[in-house]
Amino acid sequence: MADTRPTVLILGTGFAAFSFIKNVDVKRYNVIIVSPRNYFLFTPLLPSTTVGTLEFRSIMEPIRTARKGIRFHQGYGVRIDTENSVAYCEGKFKQTPFVVKYDKLIIGVGALSNTYNIPGVTEHATFLKETSDARKIRHDVIQCFERASKPDRPVRDFEWLLHFVVVGGGPTGVEFAAELDDFIHEDLCKWFPDLMPYVKITLLEAQEEILSAFDKQLSSYTRKHFARQHIRVRTKAMVKEVKSDTVMLDDDESIGYGLLIWSTGNGPTPFAESLNLPMNRGRLEVDLDFKAIGTQNIYAVGDCAVSQQEPLPQTAQVAQQQGKHLAKVLNAEILGKPPQPFVYKHMGMMAYIGNKKALAETSKIKGKGFTTFIFWRSAYLTKLMSWKNKTLVLFDWIRTFLFGRDISQF
Ligand SMILES: Cc1cc2nc3c(=O)[nH]c(=O)nc-3n(C[C@H](O)[C@H](O)[C@H](O)COP(=O)(O)OP(=O)(O)OC[C@H]3O[C@@H](n4cnc5c(N)ncnc54)[C@H](O)[C@@H]3O)c2cc1C
Repeated sequence: MADTRPTVLILGTGFAAFSFIKNVDVKRYNVIIVSPRNYFLFTPLLPSTTVGTLEFRSIMEPIRTARKGIRFHQGYGVRIDTENSVAYCEGKFKQTPFVVKYDKLIIGVGALSNTYNIPGVTEHATFLKETSDARKIRHDVIQCFERASKPDRPVRDFEWLLHFVVVGGGPTGVEFAAELDDFIHEDLCKWFPDLMPYVKITLLEAQEEILSAFDKQLSSYTRKHFARQHIRVRTKAMVKEVKSDTVMLDDDESIGYGLLIWSTGNGPTPFAESLNLPMNRGRLEVDLDFKAIGTQNIYAVGDCAVSQQEPLPQTAQVAQQQGKHLAKVLNAEILGKPPQPFVYKHMGMMAYIGNKKALAETSKIKGKGFTTFIFWRSAYLTKLMSWKNKTLVLFDWIRTFLFGRDISQF
């Protein structure tokens, strides 16, 4: 029998898409997902995987097992024919083209790391967005130590080879610097003791403060904590060029590095940019019901979308709440019921700052230190999407506590 259900096509498998899929009525809608990633990734814990505190698969959830009754095609949305409601897509591996006809299209393609067109960033820096980035970082950190411990390696090379530079003092840059510092001082120090005097971590931030979205007290607490951990924080440090082993600042200072992590905020994906739909600061403009401006049946949610009436930050909690709300709107629509307005509920912010210390800021509390670290871990354990992930993450933390992080390079 022919399927008479309207087709909802979702582009992406991130926070927005995943919470949409979890909540949409699959009996009434034919749900098709197209994304290069066949899993959902719990990005708040991604920095922990760069050094092996957590394993990659512990924070991944295969999309096919997330909900019965959905269809998934691995690939990219490349173009949309809005008049005929057709999405032109390409397979991930051989770029084989395929088309999907939709009744409603939901764009949840997220954002890319913003390079601000600074020369050399794309070629030489490593981003921290996807599992492949985290895997590369883990490989490259250990490689720097293995290269430095070669018998003929001159000590003068340590100046750059054992210098880890993080560009961007937002939560991701800070959390990565913290995880790396833990890895160095809890694990690598046991196996490369001779190299320890030469190891440096530097955090470069263009603005006056790191963690500028947090309360000033918490941001200066982090700076003091980093100073104690010997993580050097340099604010008002504007990068103007990145070369293969040096980063150049605005004042022509050049800093050698063994590994450079770039974590300076978001820019649009080429797909979102190519759609010819109204955009606002690199995000697709939507109305309060997430409908893309000037369209009838196209919605955008998460990092790739913004409403002028209620601009919200590019965070997981925003994307998740928007995806869930949109599912409820479509569920109501098909039953002929009016939609409820979207009300964003801010749950607060958290960040891990290393050495078993974390920050948390909600409307009621501002916490820092070890107790907040326990709160941070418990909060993320509850927020993980499945019991499998919760169990794996808990076991990873126990494994790291008992045996340390693995230093094999592969
Ligand atoms: C390391 C890191 C740590 C973070 N920590 C936090 C945190 O602690 N708290 C917090 O609130 N937020 C955090 N964030 C931000 C949070 O991850 C994002 O705001 C959130 O993931 C946005 O969800 P999204 O669904 O819009 O996009 P994403 O989760 O980025 O998903 C985008 C999806 O679209 C797919 N896609 C891309 N292009 C196409 C295309 N052309 N066609 C089809 N699919 C496509 C991608 O493969 C992906 O599946 C962190 C982000 C990072 C990178």
